[in-house]
Amino acid sequence: MSRPNTLTVAQARQTILEALQPVAGWEAVPIRNALDRVLLRDVNAPFDVPAHDNSAMDGYALRAGELDPGSPTTLTVVGTALAGKPFTGTIGSKQAVRIMTGAVMPHGADTVVAQEQVRAHEAMVEVPAGVKRGHNVRHAGEDLTCGKPALEAGKRLGPTELGLLASLGYAEVAVRRRLRVAFFSTGDEIATIGRPLGPGEVYDSNRYTLFGLLTRLGIELVDMGVVRDDPILLEQTFRDAAAEADVVLTSGGVSVGEADFVKAMMTKLGQVNFWKIDIKPGRPMAFGRIGNAWLFGLPGNPVAVMVTFYQIVLDALHKLAGVSPLPAQPTFAVPCVDAIRKSPRRREFPRGRLFQAEDGAWRVRLAGNQGSGILSSMSAANCFIVLTEDRDDVAAGDLVEVQVMAGLI
Ligand code: AMP
Ligand code: MG
Repeated sequence: MSRPNTLTVAQARQTILEALQPVAGWEAVPIRNALDRVLLRDVNAPFDVPAHDNSAMDGYALRAGELDPGSPTTLTVVGTALAGKPFTGTIGSKQAVRIMTGAVMPHGADTVVAQEQVRAHEAMVEVPAGVKRGHNVRHAGEDLTCGKPALEAGKRLGPTELGLLASLGYAEVAVRRRLRVAFFSTGDEIATIGRPLGPGEVYDSNRYTLFGLLTRLGIELVDMGVVRDDPILLEQTFRDAAAEADVVLTSGGVSVGEADFVKAMMTKLGQVNFWKIDIKPGRPMAFGRIGNAWLFGLPGNPVAVMVTFYQIVLDALHKLAGVSPLPAQPTFAVPCVDAIRKSPRRREFPRGRLFQAEDGAWRVRLAGNQGSGILSSMSAANCFIVLTEDRDDVAAGDLVEVQVMAGLI
């Protein structure tokens, strides 16, 4: 049964993802500058990697068909193949070539026997029975095949991919332009750090968690500060933000019954939906469009900001940035040592701490006070405990799914 404007986490994610398309701009950059950028198009291998059949071991290259199946075989060593210095002849009958790891396989050879397995004496080598054809040979193209995609469009380039591009000889690569996100905090009680707090004021922490989250994603930031509940200031800030960025990200002012101008201004300036999401923490959220920018209006509570960012906004930003497929957010089951109260029909993300118990097995405990404004327990946490809509209370010792806050938080 769905209530108007009430969405499950999955519905909110899906509605948002369906609305978004990747930004179109792109640039070619030196590969070092491509770290954390998103690949524009497939990159094909211009040659096989490895380029030649080569040895996986230090040993002797030989023809397996020459070996006696039932007893050791003695072969004559006719040369040496080093990495970067191939053996240029051809292996003949009952012959072997001393070969080092990475050296190109000599003509005629199909197998390498490791040096530990043989008895070598002057120019002769005794190979035991039972050596299998093709053993210890790495084949040309077994890593990457010439003309086939080595990396696919939409890949977010990490250290591995920089190495892979270098292994193909590419000095530059085409990546999508960086996403630009303008963000600001709202609320009359929100004070900027650097001056003493007035009565009833709280320091703005959301702009700093969002700064950290967005920076780790490699996004271009437009920090618009704290905006008071003043219609003129709010209107100007929303207009400037939407003109400058692909995404406008705000926190605060979207709850039901908020006595402020944020919702009114979003409605006036764009097409915006105000949702109640069946999520804890993080229930209210706005999503829509202002001018040419997408708007994400996050709740005000500091942990609610981080949870809605991680569970809903993150993939939206990935999609806008061109990341495809979207990164998996795996969960896995571990016993929870604490009992947890859980409301039905809601997806809850208590902050958890995975720890290794004395028996060596991993368990999870609650990271501390679960209030949606409590950042200290967020800091103590290293995972979310994911309690899906159909789940009831958790008893101590029950299995729960956990999602590791990998890298980002
Ligand atoms: P709101 O969603 O505007 O009703 O805010 C919910 C709670 O979050 C209130 O207690 C606010 O004071 C707090 N809050 C809102 N914005 C921020 C912010 N930028 N930094 C810290 N706390 C905030
Ligand atoms: Mg407020």
